[in-house]
Amino acid sequence: MPDCLFCGIASGDIPAKTVRESSRAIAFRDINAQAPTHVLVIPRQHYPNVAALAAAGDGLLDEVAALADEVARDEGVAGSGYRVVFNTGPDAGQTVHHVHAHVLGGRPLEWPPG
Ligand code: 5GP
Ligand code: ZN
Repeated sequence: MPDCLFCGIASGDIPAKTVRESSRAIAFRDINAQAPTHVLVIPRQHYPNVAALAAAGDGLLDEVAALADEVARDEGVAGSGYRVVFNTGPDAGQTVHHVHAHVLGGRPLEWPPG
């Protein structure tokens, strides 16, 4: 997808602090971290949101979720707890329209979120 920031990160054209990769997904640190652990997990292929990713139905959403858990274990937050968030649409504040899971942890996370 031309002009997509996260397609650019997936292809390596735009630099990012990658922490984990699988064949079809990549995890990298959010540029504006909201918690000690704040990593974004994306499929390399472009889908606009989690609904489109789920509709693909080829196990890619499972791969993204599994990579999120691997990141949480790498970061040492799997035991203390972490949150996986797919912001979807304007009210949720989705700003990048290449589906991404936020993996947040390393501090108590407010609930409900703001
Ligand atoms: P959204 O608001 O769409 O759920 O999340 C987009 C996230 O992407 C934000 O948390 C923002 O900080 C992050 N982000 C935006 N631009 C970049 C970038 O160029 N590099 C990285 N690593 N993260 C970015
Ligand atoms: Zn994209």
